Amino acid sequence: LSFSSCNFPQKLLQNLEAAGYEMPTPVQMQAIPAALIGQSMLVSAETGSGKTGSFLVPIVSYCVKLNNNQQKPRAIVLAPTRELCIQVEEQAKLLGKGLPFKTALVVGGDAMAGQVYRIQQGVSLIVATPGRLIDLLIKHDIELDSISILVVDEVDCMVQRGFHEQVMQIVRALSQPQVLMYSATISREVERVAGSIVKNLTIIFV
Ligand code: AMP
Repeated sequence: LSFSSCNFPQKLLQNLEAAGYEMPTPVQMQAIPAALIGQSMLVSAETGSGKTGSFLVPIVSYCVKLNNNQQKPRAIVLAPTRELCIQVEEQAKLLGKGLPFKTALVVGGDAMAGQVYRIQQGVSLIVATPGRLIDLLIKHDIELDSISILVVDEVDCMVQRGFHEQVMQIVRALSQPQVLMYSATISREVERVAGSIVKNLTIIFV
């Protein structure tokens, strides 16, 4: 697998090059083709493995190819901490530079009104912590029926922090999205949680 063999938009290939992504990393080699054919999966991957790119590259490609003129939200990335969300959004902006691909950051510590306004102005991707996204769903009636891809990053950490039920609440607000889950360790508990989030799961050990 090479990035240029994947039929990605030309501008995305340029952005990958500019970001210094020459060759896909092992997790990208396995997860990108599976994501592109619509599989839901649980991937064992740690920070530093290129896992963020392995879900962001297919998301950017999907959103751009959709010709998402109305900029309805098409993908959500859930991560356990504000800091991680900020890092994911930064990488998403880099990969989506110059493309019709906007992002919204939905985390605690910033005013909710600004986050709602940003989504209403039109974004393709929402990067969120579970608690704040639920606050937004309840208080501001954010429409998430256009979401096709849900990423749950650091599932092991989500479980440790007791976010399982909040993630389930978000899953129930969506209409059967493709789900991409990542975890540094894949324990029985993580497999059980992943299996409760989506049926028909491919498990990828890197
Ligand atoms: P992550 O594991 O997602 O936290 O990524 C770790 C770092 O690797 C990030 O700074 C990325 O910009 C970088 N990276 C991701 N994919 C590649 C790649 N294919 N080639 C070079 N660097 C990459």
